[in-house]
Amino acid sequence: MAGDDVWTLARIEAEEPELAPLARLHGILADETARFATDGGGPAPRAAFAGPPAVHWLAGRPLLLAVQPGVVRALTAPLTQRLAQRVAAAFEDVAEAAAELAVFVGRPGFPWQECIDGFRGPPPSGVPHAPLFRFLLLRALAAPATHLARSFSAPPPGRWLRRMCPFCGLPPAASVARPGGERWLLCVLCGGRWTVSGMACPSCGEDDGNRLRVLAAPAAGPATLEACDSCGLAVKVFADGALAPGPPLALEILTIRLDFVAERDEGVRRAPAAVAALLPPA
Ligand SMILES: [Zn+2]
Ligand SMILES: [Zn+2]
Repeated sequence: MAGDDVWTLARIEAEEPELAPLARLHGILADETARFATDGGGPAPRAAFAGPPAVHWLAGRPLLLAVQPGVVRALTAPLTQRLAQRVAAAFEDVAEAAAELAVFVGRPGFPWQECIDGFRGPPPSGVPHAPLFRFLLLRALAAPATHLARSFSAPPPGRWLRRMCPFCGLPPAASVARPGGERWLLCVLCGGRWTVSGMACPSCGEDDGNRLRVLAAPAAGPATLEACDSCGLAVKVFADGALAPGPPLALEILTIRLDFVAERDEGVRRAPAAVAALLPPA
C-alpha cells in the first residue's frame, strides 16, 4: 500500500480543516480507549465466548452476542463513562451534557444490559442526552467488537445469511470494491469483513438492478454509495487499496460528506446504527 494513500485521523485533522473537529473527536476517543485498556482503568477488550464461531453463526448469532453478557458490560460500562468524561474535558460546547452523562451512567441501577442488548437501536427511555450516549456506547463497544473481528476468520459465503455483521451484529453499511460476483461487506464498527454472493441490497435483498443506484460526489473523497430504491438504505464502497486493516474509521470520516450529499440530494442514507457510531449528535 502506498504511504500517500493511507488516511489516518491525524492526517485528516492536519489536512482537512472542515473535517478536523470530527477527526479530532475520534482521535481523542481512540486514545482514551487505548489508555483504558492499558492503564488498569478497566479490563482489556478481550471478549471470549464458548465454542467455535461456526456454532454461533449456524445459530444466526453474531459473536459479540455470544459473549457472556456480564463480560461485555464490565468492559463497556466503565469505558463509556470514561469516554464521556474525556469529551467533557476536551469539548467545551458539549462539556455540560457529557459531564452529566458521565455521572448518570455511573449510578447504580443504570440499565446497562438493556442498553447493550439493544445497542443497534436508540437507548431506552430515561437515558439523558440519548444521542450522545448512543454515540459513546457504540464507540465503547467498538473495542471488544474489533478484538473479535481481529481474532477470527469470517464465515465463508453461504454460511452467514443474516443481514448484519457476523462479528458484532451491526447492519451492513460499507463494502470493499472487488471484481467478480461476490462482495466483501465491511463493518464500520468492528472492521470485520465477510463475503456475500451477488449484488443484492444487503439491507432488504432487492436484486433488481434498476432499483439499485450508484451515487458519487467527486468532492467527497474516495468512495461511492450504492443505494437501494426499495428500502432507501445505502452501502458505502471503498477501494481496497485505500483501506488499512481494522475498522475503516479514518476513511469514513474522510468521506462523510458523501453521506450528507446523498441524504440531502437523493434522500438516501445508510443504516442509522452505523451512522450513529460515526457521527456524534449535531
Ligand atoms: Zn461488526
Ligand atoms: Zn434495500
